[in-house]
Order: sequence, then structure tokens, then C-alpha cells
Amino acid sequence: MSLLAGCAGGNGAPSATSVPSPASSAAVPAASEAAPTSSPAPSLAPSASPAPSAEPPVSPETAETLYRMSDKSYRFEPIGSAAAKAVLLTFDDGPKEEAMLTQMLDTLDKHGAKAIFFVNGYRVEESPELLKLIQDRGQTVGNHSWDHIALSKKSKAEVQKQLGDVQDIVEKTIGERPEFFRPPHGAGGDVGKQVAKEEGMLYMTWSNGSLDWDLKATKKDPQLVIEQVLSQLHPGANILMHELQWTADGLDSLLTKLEEKGYGFIDPSTIELPDGAAGR
Ligand SMILES: [Zn+2]
Repeated sequence: MSLLAGCAGGNGAPSATSVPSPASSAAVPAASEAAPTSSPAPSLAPSASPAPSAEPPVSPETAETLYRMSDKSYRFEPIGSAAAKAVLLTFDDGPKEEAMLTQMLDTLDKHGAKAIFFVNGYRVEESPELLKLIQDRGQTVGNHSWDHIALSKKSKAEVQKQLGDVQDIVEKTIGERPEFFRPPHGAGGDVGKQVAKEEGMLYMTWSNGSLDWDLKATKKDPQLVIEQVLSQLHPGANILMHELQWTADGLDSLLTKLEEKGYGFIDPSTIELPDGAAGR
């Protein structure tokens, strides 16, 4: 299996449809933070949200919890008055290379967008400064296992080491343990789900695969990556991308098109975490 295969594998990616949920039609699209005339985001009073029983513990520094992920479809639904037309941007398999990463971070900043960078431990060990760069630029680090191996058939002890060692090196490098986990190849199995939960992380695959890793489908062509994402677009989409040059090259155009369609970008710090999550 080549490294480029990245998160390849259909297991985690249910065939996406573009049918908006009924709730989405009622929601005014979130004003893009990049829109020049955008007024401040409406205050979303947590007290007004019809929150079900499982509210995460709240600390004074906690960002408002605005989105809840389905643990079946890995899509996001708004809590309270948050906009339904929003997507989560994720970039897997880094951190790889400073110029490409900086290009992606600059584009995210240009659009006022936040994302999760799901990193592999062996790459963090090689380039700890790039992990710091992700954090310094205000983006979120997620755990993508140490070696980028399929975990579903591994022993629990092996999976604990694959996840735990990443938690440890990320904490050692940037002072925080990841709150989000994505299994390589979308293949975490029950053991991956269990260990992620024990580590206090939200387990996710994706609901919109960009196929940027698939050279037959997207041919290293930024335009084809954009078309893939748009063809699978839906409210609450969990968009899988990778630290790849053609993805970096298409990102500005992709984010512009998403904004033109009325989509905003989910800030990972506003995602509801499982009970007992350590971070917040
Ligand atoms: Zn991957």
C-alpha cells in the first residue's frame, strides 16, 4: 500500500448525497468570515439551545458548542441556532513540508476558516516544528495514529500504543493532547473506536471524500479535487483532504466556491466532544 493511499478505503465513506436536511432550509447561511461586509457573527446563546441531556463539561475558556457529529454518518448537525450549511475541513497524513503547509494555512486564514490537521506520529517526530506551526496559526491538531496502519485487526495493546504515542508526542510538542481521532484508511474497527474513547477523543472518518489521494480519480489536478468535493457536498459535511500539493493549490478556489454556495466552516473548537473528554 502506498503512502499516497492515505485515507483510502470506502469503509468510512458512506456514499454521499447532496440532499439537504429539512433543517438546513430554515437556516440562513452563515455569513462567511471572509466576506468584506460581514457583520459580527450573531451571538448564539447557549441558554437558548434545546440541548439534550449530554452536554459536555464547560469551563470558562470553553468555546461555545455549536455542532454535534453523528457517530454513524460522521456529519455535523447544528446545535441551537448555529448554521446548518457548514462544513468541517480536515487535512490528513502530515505534517509533511513547510512550504505546502504554509500555503494551506495562509489560504485558511484568508477565508477565516479553521480545520483539523490529522497527523501521524512518525511525521511529528520528524518535523515537530511543523506541528508547532499548525498550532501557532490557530488550527487544530488531530490524531491519525503513529504509523498510518490499518488498526481494525490489531490487538488492543497495539492500538493503544498507536494512539497513545501520538497523544504523548503532540502534548510534548505543543502542550495539548488531541481531541479528535481519525483512523488511517477509515479502518479503526471496534478497537479503534474504543481506544479513541478511552483517550477522550471524538472518533470520526468522513462524509465527503475529496479523493485527492486517488490519482486515477483526481490525477493531481486541483480542479478535479474541487469537483469531487462539490459533487459530494451536503450540510454538515466532514470533508477529507490531505496534505498534498494539488489540494493546497486548489484550496483557495474550493473555499471560495463553498462560500458562494452559502457554506461556512465549522470551527473544531465548537464541536461537541464525548463525555469524559479531557480537553474541555
Ligand atoms: Zn491517512
